[in-house]
Amino acid sequence: MEKYLSQLNEAQLEPTIQKDGPMIIIAGAGSGKTRVLTFRIAYLMSEGIDPFNILALTFTNKAAREMKDRIATIVGTSEAKNLWMGTFHSVFAKILRIEADKLGYPSNFTIYDTQDSDRLIASIIKELNLDKDIYKYKQVRSRISSYKNSLITVRAYFQNPELIEADTMARRPKMGDIYKEYVERCFKAGAMDFDDLLLKTNELLTRFPEVLMKYQNRFKYILVDEYQDTNHSQYLIVRALSDKFQNICVVGDDAQSIYAFRGANINNILNFQKDYDDVKVFKLEQNYRSTKNIVNAANSIIEKNQTKLEKVVWTANDEGGKIIVNRSLTDGDEGRYVASTIWENKIQLHVNNSDFAILYRTNAQSRAIEDALRKRDIPYRIYGGLSFYQRKEIKDVLSYLRLVINPADEEALKRVINFPPRGIGQTTIDKLIVSANGYKRTIFEVMKHIDKTDVKVNSGTKAKLQEFVTLIESYQVLNQTADVFELAEHVTRTSGLIREFKKDGTPEGVTRMENIEELLNGMKDFVEGQKEVADTTGNLAEFLEDVALATDLDADKGDTDHVALMTIHLAKGLEFPYVFIVGLEEDLFPSAMSMGTRSELEEERRLFYVALTRAEKQAYLTYALSRYRWGKLVDSEPSRFIEEIDEQYLDIVTPIEERRFNPMLDADIFGDVEPNKIRFKPAKQPVLKKGGTTKEAPAKFQVTAPKNLKPVAASDSNTNLFDSQLAVGNLVKHMRFGSGEVLKIEGSGADVKAEIKFQHGGVKKLLLRFAKLEVI
Ligand code: ATP
Ligand code: MG
Repeated sequence: MEKYLSQLNEAQLEPTIQKDGPMIIIAGAGSGKTRVLTFRIAYLMSEGIDPFNILALTFTNKAAREMKDRIATIVGTSEAKNLWMGTFHSVFAKILRIEADKLGYPSNFTIYDTQDSDRLIASIIKELNLDKDIYKYKQVRSRISSYKNSLITVRAYFQNPELIEADTMARRPKMGDIYKEYVERCFKAGAMDFDDLLLKTNELLTRFPEVLMKYQNRFKYILVDEYQDTNHSQYLIVRALSDKFQNICVVGDDAQSIYAFRGANINNILNFQKDYDDVKVFKLEQNYRSTKNIVNAANSIIEKNQTKLEKVVWTANDEGGKIIVNRSLTDGDEGRYVASTIWENKIQLHVNNSDFAILYRTNAQSRAIEDALRKRDIPYRIYGGLSFYQRKEIKDVLSYLRLVINPADEEALKRVINFPPRGIGQTTIDKLIVSANGYKRTIFEVMKHIDKTDVKVNSGTKAKLQEFVTLIESYQVLNQTADVFELAEHVTRTSGLIREFKKDGTPEGVTRMENIEELLNGMKDFVEGQKEVADTTGNLAEFLEDVALATDLDADKGDTDHVALMTIHLAKGLEFPYVFIVGLEEDLFPSAMSMGTRSELEEERRLFYVALTRAEKQAYLTYALSRYRWGKLVDSEPSRFIEEIDEQYLDIVTPIEERRFNPMLDADIFGDVEPNKIRFKPAKQPVLKKGGTTKEAPAKFQVTAPKNLKPVAASDSNTNLFDSQLAVGNLVKHMRFGSGEVLKIEGSGADVKAEIKFQHGGVKKLLLRFAKLEVI
């Protein structure tokens, strides 16, 4: 252990070997918070604490796995195996399975993912005859989710006139009814959604003191990473469990709190000292991750937030290159810039694809980047889009398997009862649902005992329903002896799924087949893996649990060398040598939806801080002047966040200015020289902006072309054009903007400008002297 402790600096060592009592480490990015947690666990074990008594909660399962691996190298694999480590959701799902009966749930309850929740909510909205344009299922789901995370049960909802009032004001007076029905249906289906995993844990710990005591005694030492992003529900769980021994160690950074929109409560970190007695507070100030330029730039940005704890972050690392800021004309150009920069770096610096990460504000931005990476044959992986397990064909297979474990699972049943088609129509299914609701039974039970119910269907349909029941029951029998791979292989064949996708014949069908094959491979791996860790056999229930809580990040085994693409939210806690932050434009980042209040804007700024501090060696900030959004090409202006960084840390490859009119940019004055290679020197005065609206503002950057570059003379064609007097209404063609119509002409002599509405790129004002226009 000594050997390992020497790998910590003094400030890190202190909290690592502080064994007992409540403690909090608040420190900036890259200062070793996660490292301290890891070493601390190893230290506790070396001090004789049974790993069985240690609980560590991390932000992703991947982080937990990495921590465990690290600890295993210090204290030995067999010792580390007994540690309870994982996300809140995965740890408490395990506990809920053990204690499920107390809450009236089967221990094999299904975990509904957001897709399942969405489908159920959509179906309830339809059953209640509500207008689906007012009751948008995604909005309803997020509303229900926020009730649950604030521990507002259905009963509490109906007792709270303010909530009812708020929903009524939002034109959704039936919100409570949907909530009630949703909760009942989940319960009847033996299903918990993600929020339930926390809500029900709280219920368990408050309603059953003996259960609380059991886990308090068990988890004598509790550690929480990324504490700044815990929500109220998580906070209460941690508080309850740590109440007896108070050996609680939380680490976090208020400047990296980025989940307020999902209910995370930054007060959890701010109030920690009030919640426990004699809290020891530790600070870490030295950043080990990034270069001086990156650390200083990040400091200069987070300074702009008013709500923050004062912190020092410095680094002894190299100065490093300045942060490169790049302007592109379109999102397509931006993608090409990123791809070509990666390509060049790889060649020049001999680095791997996995040394690069491309971070964006929203998933939709990945497309243009992907196109460019593909063209350059750069392997990449997108994290956090539709996860593998949410793809249609995979969910189809998993739904059969879920029914094997829990035939009450309504969403799984509805999904596959008639897929592949077996002649059970929607009308029949609707009848089954109504009847099941009436008898307070599950759909599966109604199908099984259809003769004893009021469901009116013809004998042919009845036979088909029976057949489906028999099919699932036959799988249940097989499940008693087979492992998950053998079972799934049998299911995909005998259910007709494989036949169905084969029949399809389209390239899409082929992809689906391949995905199913991949799923089966994964199962084989899982079975082998489980057999290795002995005590388990790799059965279906274990597999489904794993899958239900797998995030995309978890599926990454690090076995291939690829560039990582992900949202900034997902990148929290990670680090990469080279980081591109793309789409730094007003209304995109900061997001148009998060500029209403200062606190929203400050959360966006923290998000930017998180993004920038992921970079170890070099950060790139890119933005485009126009971008396809909602199917339309829209003009955009550079994000205020670029301007907020102290400019001494920036290397601006292209100028940032309000794109109204700038002859030096709107025309190809530099002939064949690539615009990206021209350096511009920042001017001092800031650009003022209000709420993202375009505003005439002085250019922030003076254009100072390198001495050896001289504007080329206007070409023949535009000289002619200039001579030939362009007229309003003329159709013209521009090298970059394509075709457009002349709206207005102003100025005289060498200063004649034309306002032209281009088909792509909107209205632009061009100086005819420079613009290479062609009349068409
Ligand atoms: P974040 O806020 O982004 O989660 P963090 O505070 O958790 O960051 P770590 O991820 O623990 O920081 O550490 C950042 C990097 O610095 C890691 O690569 C880690 O291994 C390294 N590091 C931390 N402390 C030291 C140290 N004393 N000596 C050498 N490397 C260190
Ligand atoms: Mg960390």
